[in-house]
Amino acid sequence: MQKQSTHFFLLFVLIMLGQTSCANYNLYKPSYDQRLGDRMKRQIARESETYPLLPETGNEKIYTYVREIIATLLATDQIAFKEEFAWEVFLINDMTTLNAFVTPGGYIYVYTGLIKYLESEDQLAGVLAHEIAHADLRHASRQLSQRKSLSTVLLVANGGSSDLIGDIGASLVSLKFSRNFEKEADEKAISMLCTTSYKATGIADFFEKLEAVDSKRLPAFLNTHPNPGKRVERIQARAEALACKGDFTNRKTYLRMKRWLE
Ligand SMILES: [Zn+2]
Repeated sequence: MQKQSTHFFLLFVLIMLGQTSCANYNLYKPSYDQRLGDRMKRQIARESETYPLLPETGNEKIYTYVREIIATLLATDQIAFKEEFAWEVFLINDMTTLNAFVTPGGYIYVYTGLIKYLESEDQLAGVLAHEIAHADLRHASRQLSQRKSLSTVLLVANGGSSDLIGDIGASLVSLKFSRNFEKEADEKAISMLCTTSYKATGIADFFEKLEAVDSKRLPAFLNTHPNPGKRVERIQARAEALACKGDFTNRKTYLRMKRWLE
């Protein structure tokens, strides 16, 4: 390809990418998300130093408690891949880390440090709804699709030599989403919570508290879930627009449940 036409081609594809990146653009089938998730789940289980999973045995009560919240969220009519994805939860026994994450295909990981930090069940339901939303919206494979297209463009523009394709797999491991995907996940989480009896803005209370934390110990949650800006206001506005009526916080039960971790 001539240099000039390469530039035109590049411009064309970048415009196309710009248009498609806002849409529900995905090169992969949902079964790919599930396979990726299965692989990541096995890897996490092997890396017990980085991810010390809280054993199920001896912690049945807390696992049951978290699973019941997840079941409530999955029972809303908002989940596109309710049957296709695994929707399993694992607790990571690390009382100092404030984080939660989800793999493609619906394996949800919650740090005990986050459970300890939260103050009521609606806040935990908010975090779980947010993680479920990331998986159900297929953010990881959509992110991969965008990068793959961009890599292909660069590959063509560079005359066929690029290491970018090799980086695609590595970048997934961090599971860091774009601010746009964070917005989408927040919105979907509110839609989900709004159809339950939970106070739909519990997650905003959590974000408010997180943002007040000393920036030197920036919570891990904000590293893997970058703040899209005015997040708290947007969540509250969304809940208002949807006229969410729930006010269930189950605070007393939550505080009792937290003591099971001690
Ligand atoms: Zn997120």
